[in-house]
Amino acid sequence: MKKIPFFDYPALFRLYEAEFVEAFRNASGRGAFIMQKDLDDFERTLAEYTGAKHAIGVADGTMALLIGLRSAGIRPGDEVLVPSHTFVASAAAAHHAGAVPVLVDCGPDHLMDVASAEKAITNRTSAIMPVQLNGRVANMDAICEVAAKHGLKVIEDSCQALGAKFRGKQAGRFGAVGAFSFYPSKTLGCFGDGGAIITDDDSIADNARMLRDHGRGKSGKVEAWGYNSRLDNIQAALLNVKFRYYDKEVERRRSIARQYHERLKTIEKLRLPPPPDSEPDHYDIFQNYEIEAEDRDELKAYLQDRGVGTIIQWGGYTIHQFEKLGLSGNVPYTESMTQRYLLLPMNVSVDDEAVAYISSAIAEFYRRGTPER
Ligand SMILES: *Cc1c(COP(=O)(O)O)cnc(C)c1O
Repeated sequence: MKKIPFFDYPALFRLYEAEFVEAFRNASGRGAFIMQKDLDDFERTLAEYTGAKHAIGVADGTMALLIGLRSAGIRPGDEVLVPSHTFVASAAAAHHAGAVPVLVDCGPDHLMDVASAEKAITNRTSAIMPVQLNGRVANMDAICEVAAKHGLKVIEDSCQALGAKFRGKQAGRFGAVGAFSFYPSKTLGCFGDGGAIITDDDSIADNARMLRDHGRGKSGKVEAWGYNSRLDNIQAALLNVKFRYYDKEVERRRSIARQYHERLKTIEKLRLPPPPDSEPDHYDIFQNYEIEAEDRDELKAYLQDRGVGTIIQWGGYTIHQFEKLGLSGNVPYTESMTQRYLLLPMNVSVDDEAVAYISSAIAEFYRRGTPER
């Protein structure tokens, strides 16, 4: 039996170990810990890579969203539209900005449903936060059209989508602000928490730089209530190493997705994400490979027994099902999907043999017929 963990954390270090050690020694030897050259270099690389005018490193993806919302002028009492199939952090950022997260449904692509979003708009709605989930960008033509029609700011949660494109334009580039996360299991993962904001707007960039550093403006004078939320220079130094391999790693993910698709496409009880290059408008980076599966829980257990780790995103809840948060949502597709969605192993330490093993275990599960409950 093979042992295929959902994510191999030690492999993060092993993969480019010598370069990481050198980067750590170099930055530490210079005593370069907070807002130093390595962070500047990283911000420049990220801006160039995405095509944004500004990139600002922050402590994590959640803070990227919170600082992004505040920098773009979202104010207490405003309503922010958030899809219900997302990490709680998307809604938490709106909450901590003083705004009210309003949940909208997802479609079969697991991304924000534009019609559901438009229906949820009130005269207090000031922003729409599409979440570019699983490494795929939503239909941003439709979302930006609704945003323009109703005068809403677009704040993209692109935490799962660095480098993904819609019609040739990168995730995070469609609205006022894009937010990224460098949590270890993200496609560009660091060795702890990390995040960044991108924007083309000079004043949003100034605000974000101020808010991440205790509200201190360029002169050092405090201009607003800020946060201690800087991206550590050491993490930036390690990310500079990883960035060199990023495109190659994304290609590997796309190859894994292609293989899953070839091996699983005839199983009727599964709904698979579209394979790479099957739709000209989309370039997906496959942060995750999220399927919908009949008898999902039994399939998960069956794979576990065969050494394969899988994950149900957010524990199988949509955000309004966390009752203590006091949110409500009319989100029928997302709610029904919580019974079916499942993440298969998708990262650069999954080799071709592992994809074949996982796929045949899934085929075998469905060949045996629907299990008794
Ligand atoms: C990871 C993630 C975040 C938050 O990132 P952190 O760096 O963990 O704070 C926000 N939204 C989505 C969709 C994410 O996947």
